[in-house]
Amino acid sequence: MDLATSEALRSRFEQVQHQINDACAQYKQNTVQLLAVSKRHSIEAIRAIHALGQQSFGENYVQEGVDKINALSDLAIEWHFIGPLQSNKTKDVAEHFAWMHTLERDKIAKRLSQQRPSHLPPLNVLIQINISQQESKSGISLQDLPALAQQVNDYDNLCLRGLMCIPAPQDEASLTQDFCSMFQAFEKLKQQYSTVDTLSMGMSGDLELAIEQGSTMVRVGSAIFGPRDSIISNENNL
Ligand SMILES: *Cc1c(COP(=O)(O)O)cnc(C)c1O
Repeated sequence: MDLATSEALRSRFEQVQHQINDACAQYKQNTVQLLAVSKRHSIEAIRAIHALGQQSFGENYVQEGVDKINALSDLAIEWHFIGPLQSNKTKDVAEHFAWMHTLERDKIAKRLSQQRPSHLPPLNVLIQINISQQESKSGISLQDLPALAQQVNDYDNLCLRGLMCIPAPQDEASLTQDFCSMFQAFEKLKQQYSTVDTLSMGMSGDLELAIEQGSTMVRVGSAIFGPRDSIISNENNL
């Protein structure tokens, strides 16, 4: 990676950290974790961001994620799976990732628990909520949350950590409403399960609003790594 590229990465990464810190101070939130979403970005870009102190990275595609995890096994990275998961790919996630953000079915939960290797700690699981009630979008409704939460909590090799959402593109008032509903559901879940501590919401374009509404983890891709297409075509190493 050339110097200009690594300087650009550094500058965007620091900018995002400032943005998060400022929002935390302004809205009096204690800790908001940054998940760097590295999908379709290069191994070198991940190394560069890790060298700046970032420990957790998110990937959307199972095979791309596993390839990167293997290529970067010399680094102490906490890997989060944040994409849609088919049941024939659960083993890869169970064996390679520390977190799974997009759980929406008991069948997947059961397989993940069965396939989690015994030498690893339980897989940390977030249940994805289709908070904007979009047709044919991933996630479950809030009405279906209690049943799935109970099932996840009962599996030995899963640890229920909280909720995740990807709201619809919409005006700020509706988005605020969706984030607010997520926060209320999260608070309720926290009272029922002592392991619940994570609300994964907010991306590059809406992380301040998400933090204002109580997010504990923002998933940021393009604001750190730049536009996905340009980087991958510049560095053809995946
Ligand atoms: C790609 C992706 C992100 C990051 O999106 P940006 O707009 O690039 O910050 C966050 N969450 C999920 C689930 C994603 O797929």
